[in-house]
Amino acid sequence: MSDIVVYSDASGRESRLGAAVVALDDNRQVVESKQFQVGAMDRWSVHVVELIGIFYAISMVFMLAHQGLTNRQKQATILCDSRSALHATQNPRNKSGQRIVHAILQAATEAQAAGIVLRLQWVPGHCDNPGNDAADRLVKDAAYPGKTHPFRPLLSRESARLRGNILDQWEQEWRSSNKGGHLRKIDSTLPANYTRRLYGSLPRNRAYLLTQLRTSHNWLSTYAKTFGFRDNDKCVCGAQETVSHVLVDCPELRGIRRKLRSEVGDAFGSVSSLLGGSTDGKKGKPDTVARARTVQAVLDFAEASQRFWSRAPRGQPNIGNGN
Ligand SMILES: [Zn+2]
Repeated sequence: MSDIVVYSDASGRESRLGAAVVALDDNRQVVESKQFQVGAMDRWSVHVVELIGIFYAISMVFMLAHQGLTNRQKQATILCDSRSALHATQNPRNKSGQRIVHAILQAATEAQAAGIVLRLQWVPGHCDNPGNDAADRLVKDAAYPGKTHPFRPLLSRESARLRGNILDQWEQEWRSSNKGGHLRKIDSTLPANYTRRLYGSLPRNRAYLLTQLRTSHNWLSTYAKTFGFRDNDKCVCGAQETVSHVLVDCPELRGIRRKLRSEVGDAFGSVSSLLGGSTDGKKGKPDTVARARTVQAVLDFAEASQRFWSRAPRGQPNIGNGN
């Protein structure tokens, strides 16, 4: 896949708000689409719903980029007809939906670390264009009662704005969505120069794998379910399939885990250490050589586990409500 185009749209109907994202391939065929029921208009603004659409568009880029994983640089363009939402992503301060904006920026940073060139672009609404058309149709059906995303309503929370730390806010969203502070547990110093070096030293496919392990953007059932790409959150062994389950617990991976344990030593005791994280705080002086070795061993294990590849049928557009 050389170029991904994803349309994002928001809509309201009978006091309900919804969002839809639609991805097109080079031949302008719809390759993936999702709808999201966001919530009632008295708790959510259209502006925020547009932002949620953009966030999910980036998630879809991750999924699609991964399906077409090559060493070529991938480009993704996200098209949105809301100038105010696009403006908010460029000016994250003092804007409604700030925490979602920060989630968008964090996801965009991870996309760049994974070798994806991401562009966010305005497109006139209701223009004659297959992607826009499809998004428009889907989004009308998305504005039904219910909530199919992990974000919390933000309107009443703007005054309680956090201290301007991007990651803090990103993590807050995830903690509230029961993916609880995954990244925070992994690395209390993120986003730091150290993380940039960690990614910078890896070939692109390994960097992408590390991104999957360190963020919620991965193919494990728990996250795929949250994002609506899977129906359940179960591992083949029956437990809930999370990053720590795969790394530390899953009995199906006992064989290859033995090698991992012997290579990483004490780091096996904490998922944070396994993923190159630090719990030392900002003043800690981590042993970067040992950490890099540990991360390499974990990436070997993750590759061997085959859990981080798409398990969705390929080439089948997922049109509909995702159920
Ligand atoms: Zn398992």
